[in-house]
Amino acid sequence: MRLGVPCEGPDQPVVAATPQTVEKMIRLGYEVLVERGAGERARFPDSAYERAGARLVGPTGAWTCEVVLSASAPDEESLGMLGPGTTVVSRLDPARHPELIESLRATGATALALDAVPRISRAQAMDVLSSQANLAGYRAVIEAATHFGRLLGGQVTAAGKFPPASVYVIGAGVAGLAAIGTATSLGAVVRGTDVRPEVADQVRSMGAQFVPVPTAQETSSDGYATQMSQDQAALAARLYAQQAAQADIVITTAAIPGRAAPILLDREAIEAMAPGSVIIDMAAATGGNTELTVAGEVVTTEGGVTIVGHTDLAGRLPSQASQLYGQNLVNLLTLMTPEKDGTLVLDLEDEVVRAITVCHEGQTLWPPPPVTVS
Ligand code: NAD
Repeated sequence: MRLGVPCEGPDQPVVAATPQTVEKMIRLGYEVLVERGAGERARFPDSAYERAGARLVGPTGAWTCEVVLSASAPDEESLGMLGPGTTVVSRLDPARHPELIESLRATGATALALDAVPRISRAQAMDVLSSQANLAGYRAVIEAATHFGRLLGGQVTAAGKFPPASVYVIGAGVAGLAAIGTATSLGAVVRGTDVRPEVADQVRSMGAQFVPVPTAQETSSDGYATQMSQDQAALAARLYAQQAAQADIVITTAAIPGRAAPILLDREAIEAMAPGSVIIDMAAATGGNTELTVAGEVVTTEGGVTIVGHTDLAGRLPSQASQLYGQNLVNLLTLMTPEKDGTLVLDLEDEVVRAITVCHEGQTLWPPPPVTVS
């Protein structure tokens, strides 16, 4: 079969395959067609793809392959090039975009949502949410340091001394732990909170202090945090406001998959923060964790608090984001190419394949049956 790797839209620097992953896909028996310029923004020139064994093509050439690999969901024009017999593998966020799933279903194509990989151990190698969140957590600290404009680590020199910056991270999942690790390695004093008390040891092992939410909620059976009751949310909000008021930098990472992000810091809490302090809202793309976040923008309040709403933190490390995304795809293709003969097999009995298949043969298969966490 032919695998197509198209150019992404103007807002997406990540490409679904790198020269390294192209070689691996060829070893699985596929012919790989890469659209000219697809890897340019991730710093992979066309010549590198050619050397890896790919054929360079135009946009139609990539979108009309039997399998299309992309980092962002197909736009209107690309949807028009899909048809029965095509399998498109991409991030689709199906829980939040039913209209996209309906458009994909109507094409007759098979659509696989790489961002719907279940949180079970054997699926970890295909989990793009984790691989990208890890990079995004690192980048969040780099952005915070840039906007903060001061050293994160303390210094004592002959010319004077500075205290270390105080960083508070809310949500200690993959992104939050990466942010904690990066901030501590730069010398900041870091505190972290999560509604899941079981992450306390992980927070401490990254060199931060764990600040528990007074009454923490349970994790749901699928491994995700669930929504909080109103009382719990009020207790948590008070804690977040108190902690944020003492911090130079706050990094919020709280997400509830398939739902809008919870508001953790309201206007009042932000107004109580010191001038010059910085909030990096890693949930900006799904509504934001603060009342004043503007997705995709950097805003500074009258009180001098800067709120960064970048929605492309992992994409700001485009080569490595593409490499990890591409490797997640190779791992999925390895699972779905049992004979290593370049033939993609859709085994809906496999719980990972079933979980990510959102439409097939004109039928919508989303949402999938629940998967047991292992
Ligand atoms: P996520 O992006 O869904 O959420 C980020 C963090 O925010 C989570 O830790 C969550 O508990 C926390 N959070 C949610 N609401 C909050 C609130 N109101 N206040 C404070 N914190 C809040 O989570 P994630 O980073 O993708 O992963 C969460 C956990 O799942 C991690 O322990 C991770 O290791 C695990 N995980 C396992 C697999 C796997 O086994 N394949 C894959 C991905 C994640």
